[in-house]
Amino acid sequence: MQVRILGCSGGIGQNVRTSSYLIDDDILLDAGTGVGDLPLHEMLKIRHIFITHSHMDHVATIPLLVDTLFSDIKQPVIVHALKETIAALKTHIFNWIVWPDFTELPNKEAPVLKFEEMKTGDVFELDGRSVEMIEVNHIVPAVAYAVKTDRAVFAYSGDTTTNDTLWQVLNRFPRLDFMVVESGFANHDIELAHLARHYCPSLLAEDLTKLRHKPKLGISHLKPGEEKLIMDECRAAFGHDWDLQQLSSGDVFQL
Ligand SMILES: [Zn+2]
Ligand SMILES: [Zn+2]
Repeated sequence: MQVRILGCSGGIGQNVRTSSYLIDDDILLDAGTGVGDLPLHEMLKIRHIFITHSHMDHVATIPLLVDTLFSDIKQPVIVHALKETIAALKTHIFNWIVWPDFTELPNKEAPVLKFEEMKTGDVFELDGRSVEMIEVNHIVPAVAYAVKTDRAVFAYSGDTTTNDTLWQVLNRFPRLDFMVVESGFANHDIELAHLARHYCPSLLAEDLTKLRHKPKLGISHLKPGEEKLIMDECRAAFGHDWDLQQLSSGDVFQL
């Protein structure tokens, strides 16, 4: 399995993109602004998008992606998400006001976009890869995903703060090779982290003690301008036995 970081920031700016992770060439985990860097022929290969939650930084490019692909694709792009997330996208984005409802275009029988509900614990199988939805703890209904093959397991937390659900599920896996987990704020913003239900390094360090695996760890969703501070705080809080990676758009990991 290949994991390509299209976007891993909490904001935008030069060379900075919001959350999106391309698995091989056909599965997206979240559809933040990083998707916009792909050339058209790579966008056309995207068949499945697994969304963690309804926040803009994770869904921003779905409307523009399906519009861009509209005249070229033969099969619909399938967006997998919680029922609540799909309802939010339908009500607030694909509502014919902010954007057309592409689940009815060019017609209802063969649309360019389809939504498929998942529940936490559901596993979607696709060509030797399985994608499992896992409950987390964010300000809106939100999930993490784990992608498994015969050879490796990759987990992506989406947005979350302190929880037991994610770590319990990961501990049931026989292995965990690579994990992207958020730390949206630095420690001085711990009150904001509690309010917005994100991690900061000290909160994440506490939760990492619940994990029985020692995966390569990528820290995501860093607040623009505070990347170095947050990474330094993570290194100090986690201890030296973690293989900690600062992620950048364009990074590729082979698992
Ligand atoms: Zn969020
Ligand atoms: Zn976010």
